[in-house]
Amino acid sequence: MTIDVVGVTKRFKTFTALDHVNLTIHSGELVALLGPSGSGKTTLLRIIAGLEWPDTGEVRFDGEDALSRSVRERNVGFVFQHYALFRHMNVFENVAFGLRVRRGADKLPEAAIREKVNELLSLVQIDWLAERYPAQLSGGQRQRVALARALAISPRVLLLDEPFGALDAKVRKELRRWLRHLHEELPVTSVLVTHDQEEALELADRVVVMGHGRIEQVGSPAEVYDNPATAFVHDFIGETITLPGEVRGGALYFGTRALGLDPQGVGDGPARILARPHDVDLADPGTTPFAGKVLAVRTFGPTRRADVELTSTSGPVVVEAAVPHGQTLEPGTQVGLLPRRYRVFSQPAR
Ligand code: ATP
Repeated sequence: MTIDVVGVTKRFKTFTALDHVNLTIHSGELVALLGPSGSGKTTLLRIIAGLEWPDTGEVRFDGEDALSRSVRERNVGFVFQHYALFRHMNVFENVAFGLRVRRGADKLPEAAIREKVNELLSLVQIDWLAERYPAQLSGGQRQRVALARALAISPRVLLLDEPFGALDAKVRKELRRWLRHLHEELPVTSVLVTHDQEEALELADRVVVMGHGRIEQVGSPAEVYDNPATAFVHDFIGETITLPGEVRGGALYFGTRALGLDPQGVGDGPARILARPHDVDLADPGTTPFAGKVLAVRTFGPTRRADVELTSTSGPVVVEAAVPHGQTLEPGTQVGLLPRRYRVFSQPAR
């Protein structure tokens, strides 16, 4: 099912949570809404679900107005961060719930319910837990039950709000892979809310990066990572080194020295040169205007970062640089930084 969000604005009193949001989610696609806390992800998800209504704008399911329909009529399945399983029902009954409450022509005979639930339990690989109660399950197992329960009603859309947020890092990673695999087997149009960049990049067909109630960029994981449309996206989506610069007469400078870098269409004025740490080489300090003294070297597991104090006419600037594997770098050493791949953005006036 295709979902169109057209010009959606949502205010809470004077606060604008969503500001003219336009988005198309294609049939069978898994889209991640990614952004920092308060950027409007959950509000957008709730509007798609029918739990919240926009002040202006439209939501269409397969071209038809969805806003006049209830949650039930929209036929959406949910999975939230905090497993809302029924504590007094075992796993089997939790998954069967959505089918058992159906009335009239929609009601399935008991044998069909049992068959469908068993199918789902084996799809999410928890058939061996059917008799257990939620209290007897791990967090990861509960989320599998929650997903099986959401899928039981054969939803047209699956909405996932930080489904793995409460789990530890290892289980989260495992469930991510599993969900991706499940989505390939059963490609229900899915919208996942997350503030975890890695989760969005690994899981989604397309990533929608949100900031301050607006969509900053929509693209494939590779597009948003390698070609961020804005400085906000660059910074939010992955580790970022920010080097200061200025565009003068169509050329990029650091202080008085020309950088020899492409200003990428940015007009005259203060600019920021943003790069991924692995795209900035350590170089001889004589070969680049970005040169200075190593203040400290820090180790994070397999990666090392150096704080380099760049000397400029307008005072010192400290930037963090990646230290390549196998290279030694001592505090006090003079080094140069040479961005190989970078994006230039203008520095908005504050
Ligand atoms: P998080 O990752 O923290 O859940 P989010 O990106 O999902 O953040 P939303 O939950 O959509 O953000 O909230 C967007 C903004 O709208 C927030 O500043 C929030 O405080 C505000 N907001 C959300 N719901 C309400 C409400 N019912 N009443 C008032 N303000 C609200």
